[in-house]
Amino acid sequence: MTNKTKKRIAIFGSTGSIGTQALDVIAANPELFSAEVLTAMTNDALLIKQALAFQPAIVVIGDEKKYPIVKEALSGTDTQVYCGEKALQEVASMDVYDMMLAAIVGYAGLKPTLMAIEAGKAIALANKETLVVAGDIIIRKAMEFRVPIIPVDSEHSAIFQCLVGEGRNKIEKIILTASGGPFLGRKPNFLMNVKREHALQHPNWSMGAKITIDSATLMNKGLEVIEARWLFNLKPEQIQVVIHPQSIIHSMVQFEDGSIKAQMGLPDMKLPIQYAMAFPQRIPNTFPRYNFKQPNTLQFDEPDLKTFRNLALALEAMKQGGNMPCILNAANEIAVYAFLKNRIGFLDMTDVVEKTMQNVAHIAEPTLEDYFETDGEARTFADSLIQMY
Ligand code: NDP
Ligand code: MG
Repeated sequence: MTNKTKKRIAIFGSTGSIGTQALDVIAANPELFSAEVLTAMTNDALLIKQALAFQPAIVVIGDEKKYPIVKEALSGTDTQVYCGEKALQEVASMDVYDMMLAAIVGYAGLKPTLMAIEAGKAIALANKETLVVAGDIIIRKAMEFRVPIIPVDSEHSAIFQCLVGEGRNKIEKIILTASGGPFLGRKPNFLMNVKREHALQHPNWSMGAKITIDSATLMNKGLEVIEARWLFNLKPEQIQVVIHPQSIIHSMVQFEDGSIKAQMGLPDMKLPIQYAMAFPQRIPNTFPRYNFKQPNTLQFDEPDLKTFRNLALALEAMKQGGNMPCILNAANEIAVYAFLKNRIGFLDMTDVVEKTMQNVAHIAEPTLEDYFETDGEARTFADSLIQMY
């Protein structure tokens, strides 16, 4: 294969858990992919190392104070160096790449992804918050600009894979599996004493800090329900969450004839990352395989919505619609970072989200501007709650 047929990938958030694994996939498949844009927020050392190894056309460091360090380190190379939030958006619309891997964490991923869609770039979407905040607008824009959004989140990749070849066959419902996180089966009297270090230990997946906390509170599953609603054009009642502690079945689709398709495999994010990057091709790899010869039990259970109220709040936000999921997401980001700084307790995160949802004005049909404003208002309100702890 010649250079011309390589897919040029822009990894927004290349220094994170998803970003570094995506670079592993690119390194393993140099004939298929090249890394043309790499971005980080503060981790200049890793960004520089990645740039020297992959020789992208452009790197962006979000933190402007780090610009001189990155610029100096890459001065002998052909890589251009940009900095700041605005640059992330500008680079997203540049003609140096074909597919964006949206792997920035949180609301910060929204604007660059929007710019990439408007520039006609294919999107491999890890950043679920983008769809939680403004799913209606993102999906509408993707249709308008005819760009595919291919999920990287393992559950959504599973559903996407189950739908390949199904044409117009209708989905009766999807079954989103959830590991249940490190506190599966625990009750509030235990959770109230949970500390940061304990919550950062996920049984099956190694991920960035924010999503690891979201997995422990089940907010991650709530965000994923909303993500699925937009990706697969579903009604809220068509989405069921099932606890499956082994994380072998990554999710399922039930069709109108009652038949259920599941996508299975060992939990390894490199699989959905490479699937999204190579779609519709499957590329061989040497990742460990699931072994049916070992004693295995696959369990399924109902989520405990009374204990893990974040999931209930996310379902409620989805039902209310409009800017409510945006409010939920902003409050949750503030709450998670406060918990990570030991400012508030584990269960306080839910209270912050709930109170913010009750206090920021609901808008039934928000514009993009409304979403930006809502995000700011919800953050300010959630912050003011945290000051009181
Ligand atoms: P990490 O925290 O590991 O990485 C986040 C990346 O985004 C880093 O490159 C970071 O830069 C950058 N970043 C952080 N804040 C900003 C900002 N304000 N502006 C620009 N860039 C920023 O996150 P993950 O890789 O775990 O997750 C990324 C996304 O993928 C999340 O939305 C998550 O929900 C989703 N996802 C992750 C999974 C996983 O297994 N990790 C699984 C499924 C979905 P720096 O390193 O400099 O801070
Ligand atoms: Mg997931």
